[in-house]
Amino acid sequence: GNILNMSEKLLFFQIFSIYSVCSTDKFVRHKPIELSSVVSGTDLDRMWQKDLKPMLVVRYPGSTGSQHVQQHIKSTLGSMKAGWEVTEDAFYAHTPYGHLPFTNIIATLNPEAKRQLVLACHFDSKYYPPQWDGREFFGATDSAVPCSMILELAKAQDDELKTLKDSGSDMSLQLLFFDGEEALYQWTSEDSLYGSRHLAHKMATTAHPPEATNTSQLDGIDLFVLLDLIGGPNPRFGNQFSSTTRWLSRLQNIERRLHVLGHLENHPNEVQYFWPGLHVGLILDDHIPFLNRGVRILHLISTPFPAVWHTFDDNEENLDRTSISNLNKILQVFVLEYLNKRSQSPIAEGS
Ligand SMILES: [Zn+2]
Repeated sequence: GNILNMSEKLLFFQIFSIYSVCSTDKFVRHKPIELSSVVSGTDLDRMWQKDLKPMLVVRYPGSTGSQHVQQHIKSTLGSMKAGWEVTEDAFYAHTPYGHLPFTNIIATLNPEAKRQLVLACHFDSKYYPPQWDGREFFGATDSAVPCSMILELAKAQDDELKTLKDSGSDMSLQLLFFDGEEALYQWTSEDSLYGSRHLAHKMATTAHPPEATNTSQLDGIDLFVLLDLIGGPNPRFGNQFSSTTRWLSRLQNIERRLHVLGHLENHPNEVQYFWPGLHVGLILDDHIPFLNRGVRILHLISTPFPAVWHTFDDNEENLDRTSISNLNKILQVFVLEYLNKRSQSPIAEGS
């Protein structure tokens, strides 16, 4: 029914009492985040045509498809008004198939900001040798959809992100697109996470701010949000890290608020994507090299994994459009609220 019960009314009240601070001077100026306008800015069909389709190619490290996808990510972010700084972390690594080239792509809204909210995904697809009967692995949920969601966020919120950047906020946004997440042959600590291992090491040894002597770019990461295995039906995100339970709860709260406002499709009352109270075991993924260096992690990976995981059926036909659309809305509200709320408060150690 559409009659709000008491807790829904409370949520309804909260929706309109969440304020962000947009201030470049000593006067605190409150500006509400307009949920409806955030939500209406995102466009699933645009994401599908402009970002997802170009990514649904075979794109293992060193392949032609990988080159095309890298070019797509760089040119897309390069064309935004917000003015992203886009750099590459290119290197060779030894693999079971010999030395291969890898390239991570790093897009930073404001490199001078003291702290960064990081959104990360891997753009490589798992390599399957050619004897597999001509079938090709496109890794739609793994991770073409997560990468497309991040590009769509940059596109849909381009104006807001430009405003944030121009305000000189201490908190900014950084996007990481990893190469070589997948094992080339079989998962070991050496044959996996090629890109994230390389970049975590590089960021740990790069001073931030540039003149600093005892803090690195890793110290500047406020929260590292990794998206993986998204796009299947009935996504469910459990909790791996008690240090970031509050941020998973935040996503749950946003999901409820958007639900109450009727902004989520195919999302009846009993559906819930985010489960802060559901503890799941540690999953090996691109966050590990960052986690091992003390970075706070929010790992948004569907558990259980999508049924098509690491099969040739992980393709466009088996994607669930409405949950992707809903997750785009939830993620975009999360990011804008995070950037606006965290920019006003002094960041306490370990907060
Ligand atoms: Zn995979």
